[in-house]
Amino acid sequence: MKRFEKWLRSKKIEPRRFYIGAILVSLVFILLVVINSIKDDTDNKIYLTEDAEIRTGPNASYPVLFNIREGEAFKVIGHEGKWLEVTSYDEKQKGWIAGWHTNLDIKEDENPNAQPLKGKVIVLDPGHGGGDQGAASQTGKSTLEKDMTLDTSLELKKKLEKEGAKVKLTRSDDTYVRLKDRKATGDVFISIHNDALESNKANGATVYWFHEQQEALAQTLNASIQKKGMLSNRGVRQENFQVLRQTDMPAVLLELGYISNPTDEVMIKDKNHRQIVENAIVDGLKNYFLS
Ligand SMILES: [Zn+2]
Repeated sequence: MKRFEKWLRSKKIEPRRFYIGAILVSLVFILLVVINSIKDDTDNKIYLTEDAEIRTGPNASYPVLFNIREGEAFKVIGHEGKWLEVTSYDEKQKGWIAGWHTNLDIKEDENPNAQPLKGKVIVLDPGHGGGDQGAASQTGKSTLEKDMTLDTSLELKKKLEKEGAKVKLTRSDDTYVRLKDRKATGDVFISIHNDALESNKANGATVYWFHEQQEALAQTLNASIQKKGMLSNRGVRQENFQVLRQTDMPAVLLELGYISNPTDEVMIKDKNHRQIVENAIVDGLKNYFLS
């Protein structure tokens, strides 16, 4: 130290002044580092402009970890493409969110697979009609199959059109259409029915196909109805129904529950339940056209 001070003096520098100067320089340096780190922190801060999900990886096929709300703030710790790896400020939530849900100027990908039903022609065949009432309930509710198949088909039509599909109906009101006339050109054909048996015990949904090229559609729709619907699952079966036999298209006949079973009958008549089944059919069709 003494030698250093001596050296300073030889350069005509007062040691005390030198030390004060050195302290000031270090303080300014520390201040700059702190300011910079605070700035970094706000640079990495994002918030949600709409409700979204945190997923385990950087695209929508990864499982959802948390649902997060509009306005919530996160720290960005990484990114891949348009996805951001984030942690919450309490560090309890960590994962990936799509950049377009945040205040950052990130545009959502134009995904060609986002609307797999766009432009597809779906033929819906509401079973029975007119003088052919189909199955009838055994309870006092007097539910008729021909009414339920028409309601289901008309509701399903709206949902499919929302997805960009074109829908053809073999009947759109309470009229009788012969089986041989229940056909139209399209990408898939779906005949809609409700089952009945003399015993009121039988219940659940069955998906029928006939030609080989119809089985994949049947499997896909059945999986979706089983996953989302509340009807018990009777599986997929091959059956020589005329509406399936007379078409080369991928075609299925859906028996969406037993009108003859009191529990199924309540579900068939319930619009909310029908919505669940209809959404399952829409999802199944999307999966079918994506695969
Ligand atoms: Zn029927």
